[in-house]
Amino acid sequence: ERPAAVGKELVEDALDAGARTISVELRAGGAQLIRVTDDGCGIPEEEIELAFERHTTSKLTSFDDLERVATLGFRGEALPSIRAVAEVSIISRPLTQEFAAYRRWERGELVERGRRSAAPGTQLTVRQLFADLPARRQQLRSPASEAAHCAQVVSHYALARPEVRFTLTVDGRTTLRTPGSGVLDDAALAVLGRGVVAQLLPVDSRQLDGGEGLVAVVGLVSRPSLSRANRGGLMFFLNGRWVQSRLLVQAVEAAYHTRLMVGRHPVAVLHVALPPQAVDVNVHPAKTEVRLRCEGEVFRTVERAVR
Ligand code: ADP
Ligand code: MG
Repeated sequence: ERPAAVGKELVEDALDAGARTISVELRAGGAQLIRVTDDGCGIPEEEIELAFERHTTSKLTSFDDLERVATLGFRGEALPSIRAVAEVSIISRPLTQEFAAYRRWERGELVERGRRSAAPGTQLTVRQLFADLPARRQQLRSPASEAAHCAQVVSHYALARPEVRFTLTVDGRTTLRTPGSGVLDDAALAVLGRGVVAQLLPVDSRQLDGGEGLVAVVGLVSRPSLSRANRGGLMFFLNGRWVQSRLLVQAVEAAYHTRLMVGRHPVAVLHVALPPQAVDVNVHPAKTEVRLRCEGEVFRTVERAVR
């Protein structure tokens, strides 16, 4: 759809690869270039071309895995889809491989094969997104607006994974840098700024329940003195994945009850942990909407924790 969708898939792949450092670089809002560099597990040379085929994934080893997907991806659709609409190159090196393999595709065709020297990890570069699809390209907004969407994706993942160091560079200027300390407050400081973080309170509630097991709610929520005119400050992470959830929005807002004026909304960065089998990630292809199998319990736990 747009550069941010590409950026999201590449960042998710980097996280699934176990990266501790991820840098995202954009030029012209991503239409000219999106580059994601990670220090994750890399792809062995003999599997690199396979990774760009449709429905190939290294993230499922058995049918049962589908019931408890712990990775962000598992459909094997991102790389082939991106390759179909842009010029793509990859440099990737697993730790145990002496060299990095290099491949480049244009219009879906493999045009270059080689080896490079590079640190372990993967660098994926997407150039000229939608160059051959003028209608798609026309639908893109201004570079600033597309870059803002990408920045939102990176910000969400920076908050989802405080243990990972994220850097975002837009047209050569670093606009976001998180320390990767593993402490949510540190990531929040980088993403939301000191003024906002000073008005957030910690939430930390973990409870064992009979049926589905553990529901944990950990994060930061605003004091009633800080509110916004929209719900853009409400961010939820379910098992490390940024999600949009009406249920979680309602649970948080219920907790504030009359403490906020009508039309005002709190800021919240909440990590909710549930057993993987309690979450159905198959509802939406981009997987930002999820279906929960124990909605009432989650609602009550979140509301109680925030209150
Ligand atoms: P999925 O993430 O659903 O498996 P993708 O098309 O995003 O599908 O990626 C295909 C495969 O390529 C992944 O399963 C993984 O094995 C490999 N891959 C992609 N990006 C990376 C990366 N940054 N580091 C290591 N392996 C990667
Ligand atoms: Mg993926």
